[in-house]
Amino acid sequence: MALSGLQIYKLLPQTNCKECGFPTCLAFAMKLAQKGTELDKCPYVSDDARTALDAASAPPIKLATIGAGDRAFGVGNETVMYRHEKTFVHQPGLVVRVKSDAADLADVAARVAGYSVERVGMTLTLDGLAVEDAGGRAAAYAAAVAAARAAAPGLPLVLMSADAAAIDAALAGGAAAEKPLIHAATAANWQAMAEVAKKHACPLVIKVADGDLDGLLELSGQVRGAGVEDLVLDPGATTLAGELAAATQLRRLALKKGARELGYPLVAVAAAPTWQAELVRATQAVGKYAGVIILDHFEPAMLYSLLTLRQNIYTDPQKPIQMEPKLYEIGSPTADSPVLITTNFSLTYFSVAGEVEGAGIPTWLLVADSDGQSVLTGWAAGKFDAEKIAKTVKGSGIENMVGHKKLVIPGHVAGLSGEVEEELPEWKIMVGPRDAVDIPNYIKNVWGA
Ligand code: SF4
Repeated sequence: MALSGLQIYKLLPQTNCKECGFPTCLAFAMKLAQKGTELDKCPYVSDDARTALDAASAPPIKLATIGAGDRAFGVGNETVMYRHEKTFVHQPGLVVRVKSDAADLADVAARVAGYSVERVGMTLTLDGLAVEDAGGRAAAYAAAVAAARAAAPGLPLVLMSADAAAIDAALAGGAAAEKPLIHAATAANWQAMAEVAKKHACPLVIKVADGDLDGLLELSGQVRGAGVEDLVLDPGATTLAGELAAATQLRRLALKKGARELGYPLVAVAAAPTWQAELVRATQAVGKYAGVIILDHFEPAMLYSLLTLRQNIYTDPQKPIQMEPKLYEIGSPTADSPVLITTNFSLTYFSVAGEVEGAGIPTWLLVADSDGQSVLTGWAAGKFDAEKIAKTVKGSGIENMVGHKKLVIPGHVAGLSGEVEEELPEWKIMVGPRDAVDIPNYIKNVWGA
C-alpha cells in the first residue's frame, strides 16, 4: 500500500539539509507521496528505509507480460476498484482455447491471429491462443504447440496442461522464446510446474478450485518460495456469483489490504456450452477484474461484443477517444452537399459519419474541438457553444467549398441556433435531428426542401 507523506517522513534522516532541492525532509516526503519526485534525490536514505519505501511503492497488483514481440500484452498494475475512481489500465487479453488434438488447430490459430474489427477509428484484435493438452504423450502436446506457433507466428500463447513434462517439452521445443503463460500450477503439481516456469522464465498461473482463496494464498507462498514471482491467479470458481465474489475479494485484498501474496492479475476461464452463456461469463470478467479471459467459441457476435465492451471499460474516463477537429469529407461532397457540424467525441463522429456514409449521402462534416466531449456534454460544459461553432466554420474554409450557406447543427443544441445566426449572419442555421440515425431522412426530406 502507498505510504502517506508522514509515514515516508519517519523513514528519512530528518536533518533538513536541503540537498534534495526541498527546504525540509517533510516537504520532500510530501512530494514523494504524491509521486512528484524520486527517492534518489536524497543521498542520505538508509538501506533499510530504501527497502521499505521500494516495497511500499511497488504496484499492488504486479504486472505480468504474456508473449514476446509486437503482440505481447501486459496485465495487472491496476490501482482502483472502480473505473471512475481513476481508470483501469491494462485491458484483459482475450484468448481463444483449442484442444491440442483438434484437427483444425492450425486453422483456429490463424483465424485468431488474423481477426480484427474497426470501431471508432481503432482496430480491435484478439490477444492470444490457449492450447489445451488433450492428454497423452508430452511430445504430442509439444508438436501441437509447435503447429500453433507455425500457423500464427508471434501470437501470444497460453499453455494449458496439468502435466509439467508436457509444458516443459513445448517450451523446450521453441515456445519458451515467446514467453507463453503456463496454466497451471495446482496443489498437486506446483513443485514441478514452478521448476518449469523458473527454467524457462515464463509467467505461471496458480490455480485452485471453487474460489478457495485460502488455498490460493497457500499456493502463492509455496510457488513464490520456489523462486517464481511472475504469477497469475485462477481462483477456479465455476458460477457467476462465485467468480464475481472471488475476483472482487482478490482485488480488494490486493488494493485495500496490501496482500502482496495475492497481488497478481487474474485469469478467467469463461468457457460455457453455448457462446451466449460464454459471453455472459466473459462480460462479467471484463468488468470484474480479469487480466486474461479464455474463451472456447470463435463466434463473431460474441467477440465483437466483448471487444466493444473492453474498449469502453478500458478507455480512460477523463480522456475520451477524440477525433482531430477539422473538416471531414464523407463520400465525395460537392458545392451542393450539405454541411453538418458536430463535436470531436469519436463515438459522436463515427455515429454521424456512419449514418451519412451508409445512406450514400456525400457530406461535409465539420468537427469542432469540444475536448472530446459529446454534443450535450460539450454544450453543458461550455465546450460546444455558438462561439465555438462559428470559429470552427470560419477556420475550416468551408464557405469557399459550397455554393450555399446552410449549416446544420445537432438537434440537441437547437437552443443555440439564434446565437449561431448572430455569430454567422451570412449563414442559414438549420436544426438537425437529435439522433444520428435520423440524419439521412432529415437531409433527404428537410435539408433540400
Ligand atoms: S536530502 Fe534527504 S535529508 Fe536532506 S532535506 Fe532532502 S530529504 Fe532531508
